[in-house]
Amino acid sequence: MKASVAHQNLLIDLQKIDTTIMACGVKLSNLPEHEQIKAIHKRLEDSAIELKVVETELEDVSIDLRRSEVDVEAVTDRMKKDEARLNAGTASPKELEQTQHELATLAKRKAELEDGELEIMMRHDSVKKRLDELASDEVGLKQLELELNVRLENAKTEIGADLERAKSDRASLVPQIETALYELYEKVRTSANGVGAALLIGNKCDGCHLEINAIEIERIKSLATDELLRCEECRRILVRI
Ligand SMILES: [Zn+2]
Repeated sequence: MKASVAHQNLLIDLQKIDTTIMACGVKLSNLPEHEQIKAIHKRLEDSAIELKVVETELEDVSIDLRRSEVDVEAVTDRMKKDEARLNAGTASPKELEQTQHELATLAKRKAELEDGELEIMMRHDSVKKRLDELASDEVGLKQLELELNVRLENAKTEIGADLERAKSDRASLVPQIETALYELYEKVRTSANGVGAALLIGNKCDGCHLEINAIEIERIKSLATDELLRCEECRRILVRI
């Protein structure tokens, strides 16, 4: 096929635009924010599951704590009553002895209950602390998700603008290229990883980066400039500089 040098050069311009369009597509589908947002969703899901478990635990511990407080109050009330009876001085010596004995038992019981209460309080504090941590994590993750979404949208807008510009450049360039030449370029491009035309740089095809043998180079040199070349290795349209 024959094509003027000007038309061959237009193919290289078109190739640059098509490479940009391809690169935009790759960039759009590989934006790191997609994976980062997915990871945050997973963490939020895990956190929500743990939050439910910890909330139930806190309810249980709160009930235990209240029950323990009631037990301590009951013993304390009984001790107060016994002490009042002792202080009133109206009891018989036998009753006094019994009350003193009961007071000693109650004091021991109270100490045990208070130890238990302290233990429950500590458990309550630790569960509450974990709940607060989870709630604060959730706030942090949601904030991060928000920021990532903004970054994602900005990146998409930026790449989208490049893509639109390239598409518009392409639309104005294509009509300037001879139909048969354009059709050949398109045919090669679809079968050669999106690269239909490449420059011949020195003795290398810029499409497949392979060296062209000396005999072929000599043959190319002898050809008229409007003779359309194809790389023997990759079959791409080869344009001389
Ligand atoms: Zn090649």
